[in-house]
Amino acid sequence: MSQLVWLRNDLRVNDNPALNAACLRGPTTCIFLVDASQWQHHDMSPWRVALTLRTVDCLSQQLAQLGIKLIIRGCNSFAEAPKVIVQCAQELAANCVFFNAEIALNEQRRDDKVEAALEQSGIQCERHHSFTHLPPGAVTKPDGSGYTVFTPFKKRWLAHPLALPSTPLPPPESQGPTVEPEQTPNNVGGIEKTFGADLWEAGEAAAQNCLSNFLQSRAKLYSTQRDLPDQPGTSQLSPHLACGSISTGQCLYAAYRANDNRLHGGNAGIDTWISELIWREFYNHILAANPRLSRGEAFRRETENLEWNHNQEWLERWQAGQTGFPLVDAGMRQLNTSGWMHNRLRMVTSQFLVKHLFINWREGERYFMQNLVDGDLAANNGGWQWSASTGTDAVPYFRMFNPIRQAERFDPSGAFVRAQIPELARAQGKSIFTPWQYTDTSHYVKPIVDLSAARDATLAAWKRMRATLT
Ligand SMILES: Cc1cc2nc3c(=O)[nH]c(=O)nc-3n(C[C@H](O)[C@H](O)[C@H](O)COP(=O)(O)OP(=O)(O)OC[C@H]3O[C@@H](n4cnc5c(N)ncnc54)[C@H](O)[C@@H]3O)c2cc1C
Repeated sequence: MSQLVWLRNDLRVNDNPALNAACLRGPTTCIFLVDASQWQHHDMSPWRVALTLRTVDCLSQQLAQLGIKLIIRGCNSFAEAPKVIVQCAQELAANCVFFNAEIALNEQRRDDKVEAALEQSGIQCERHHSFTHLPPGAVTKPDGSGYTVFTPFKKRWLAHPLALPSTPLPPPESQGPTVEPEQTPNNVGGIEKTFGADLWEAGEAAAQNCLSNFLQSRAKLYSTQRDLPDQPGTSQLSPHLACGSISTGQCLYAAYRANDNRLHGGNAGIDTWISELIWREFYNHILAANPRLSRGEAFRRETENLEWNHNQEWLERWQAGQTGFPLVDAGMRQLNTSGWMHNRLRMVTSQFLVKHLFINWREGERYFMQNLVDGDLAANNGGWQWSASTGTDAVPYFRMFNPIRQAERFDPSGAFVRAQIPELARAQGKSIFTPWQYTDTSHYVKPIVDLSAARDATLAAWKRMRATLT
């Protein structure tokens, strides 16, 4: 009896429940589907596509050394997945297909269809869970309903009997002699596999290094350094978590051990980092409980009536990092040149788009997804709806980050802005915050809006929308 494991965003041999269960059952083969058109349809960025391909290659080699073949097949859409998986299972005479569940709506529907097609062909299907530490639906209020506010969710999450991370699952045992590893194509949908390879190292070993370096040298300073974009204060594990070269469970377990076997009440830095991992859990649980979010709907239905600005020029200037507000522009340029943006800047740039430019959050959500190496529907949607005040536990509608004050607070020396914006590389003193007011920086693009007028216009639009509710 042979088993087939369908790998998706769980690209690792360690702590992989579906792979582990299949290999315990008997001889196992794995499959990965290269689905360029679906990736494009889901706005997956070139950074993330290329990183995924390189990660699959690393995994293919690891599996090959364990005597496990990873088959790489092309697929043209989610609709084609049932046919390809059933065909492959039949070719291998597999009696069961294993996979780790995904949370977004389209992925769940695809998986349901695959499961039905397998059943029709007399092949069993086993779903496991691994994208979050606690499965969606596990953290509920006493009345069984889900949480929509982070703090009580976190409290309940921490009190859950399965919250304490246990030793991560080991890699499967060797199945026999090394096999020839298959590799992904060098170019998929026009994206070179090597794109971004100098910035984003792929694979499980790279993810583990990233985690241990962070925990050894930076985690204890996380609570004081994490908001400073010119410091390497955060882990940069998000690309690995997105494609699954590391699991949340592995991150939590390592943090728990580094924190004297505590998830909270230990070192302030590590406690805060664990809390961020719980934010990831929170947004994934919210997405699972509210499938309409996967369809692009606002969590707060009344906010669908907001009359957003449709200003293509403003949108394009925001995307290009040409708004005239240095910290906003520096964040967008960091994204455009590296595929990653510091969390503080994700908050600053998103708030600027949805609050000062009053452009629909969906435009920003899409642009981030198309450009982030760690693009993840739950975290991205959660972050954008938080900024736009349309989501769960969102910032109140009348609160707006002032990009000048944010720069003074979180990039006080201007080091980050100078590094990202060559036009301001030689800006002196306070001219780095408001370059339009100084002669030596007057060549830098002028501000796109007057902050105070923009703020008033946005508040007025919100008030108009709220007036229609009463
Ligand atoms: C508008 C907006 C869009 C975002 N889009 C994404 C996205 O597409 N993908 C993504 O992974 N994160 C997203 N985030 C959350 C956060 O900015 C990133 O997770 C973080 O910057 C990644 O860097 P890091 O790995 O160094 O994080 P660390 O600070 O080291 O945190 C560790 C991990 O915790 C999780 N995490 C941290 N902060 C958050 C958060 N606010 N929400 C959910 N999970 C969090 C991430 O998995 C992260 O890798 C977004 C935030 C905002 C405000």
